[in-house]
Amino acid sequence: MQIVAADVIVTSPGRNFVTLAITTDDGLVGYGDATLNGRELAVRSYLADHVVPLLIGRDAHRIEDTWQYLHRGAYWRRGPVTMAAIAAVDVALWDLKAQVAGLPLYQLLGGASRTGIRAYGHASGRDLPELLDSVRARQDDGFTAIRVQSGVPGLEAIYGISASPDATGGLGYEPARRHPLPTEETWDTRAYLRHMPTVFDAVRNEFGPELPLLHDVHHRLTPIEAAKLGKALEPYDLFWLEDCTPAENQESLRLVRQHTTTPLAIGEVFNASVDYHTLIREQLIDYVRSAVTHTGGITAMRKLFDLAAQYQIKTGIHGPSDISPVGMAAALHLDLAIHNFGIQEFTPHSAETYEVFRRSYTFEDGYLHPGEEPGLGVTLDREAAARFPYDPAYLPVNRLRDGTVHDW
Ligand SMILES: [Mg+2]
Repeated sequence: MQIVAADVIVTSPGRNFVTLAITTDDGLVGYGDATLNGRELAVRSYLADHVVPLLIGRDAHRIEDTWQYLHRGAYWRRGPVTMAAIAAVDVALWDLKAQVAGLPLYQLLGGASRTGIRAYGHASGRDLPELLDSVRARQDDGFTAIRVQSGVPGLEAIYGISASPDATGGLGYEPARRHPLPTEETWDTRAYLRHMPTVFDAVRNEFGPELPLLHDVHHRLTPIEAAKLGKALEPYDLFWLEDCTPAENQESLRLVRQHTTTPLAIGEVFNASVDYHTLIREQLIDYVRSAVTHTGGITAMRKLFDLAAQYQIKTGIHGPSDISPVGMAAALHLDLAIHNFGIQEFTPHSAETYEVFRRSYTFEDGYLHPGEEPGLGVTLDREAAARFPYDPAYLPVNRLRDGTVHDW
């Protein structure tokens, strides 16, 4: 099974996606997601200019060897651009191998460990009535676990909140704006810390103790502030508190952990398992949040998850709308196969996106399933993709009230 072509396809059906399509001499095509939100063309160049020439003529069956060749062979290791490019190659090769085997990919990863993949959906509101409506809407969609994000009085815009209620028709919040420059938001930590416990108090009162609730801090707090929030939210029994502090300094989580029993999830901006070494070995987190698309593909994620499993840490694969249906399908095959699955984030894509990407995965009664088609079960329609040319978009930038740039 020799690789005869590898094409990088950039398309923007509602938002930008970068997809690698690897063709073999048997005429099979395998797909990998290489989307890096707001920096898409850097990965396209990395792939087209530096990786594709290395792939032509290679044996597509040699997945581990190709991963090591691209990782060690580049000399320059890690980084979001490199790891997204390697991930795309890796997932496309797994897709091909499973197609040749005539099996859905999860069967090659050990087979199903469960019957369905529990997903959590996003609820948000500029104020409490809007938020409660949004939680009800996600329950109506079938979700049995819900992430709660709320506006904060005095702050005009904040991560996780649409400008208008369900502006995307219930598809969730899209932070990357099609604008020549990033939009800017204002942040006030004290106002946020004061407000969030009142939000969870109201949501628990409305929906009772059973519904699993999640919350994303989006890296905005110092360790002591994160510890304070985790402690304040303990009465509301969160499923997890996500990215409570930037975790490049892994040791900082020791302080958070000493002060709160609220479960912690971290890692969507990480791209290598070494980013987790202290977090995992010292059991400073409860959920690993990496995306298949940004952490080197199925080969690297499987190793990361197996390490986490030895420390009773579960998975919560990143699944925002900037993970394409190809990346989502790769996540679902892993979710179904691994033992230490925790939960899967799921933000359905737009109708235009599903015009470009035909998929076999399903979402029913709160559970996802990758389907039974051989391979990943996702294909890209090149004619449809060509109708949606690349359109530059940036994630917002955050500033404190005095103008200082802050984590967004
Ligand atoms: Mg997040």
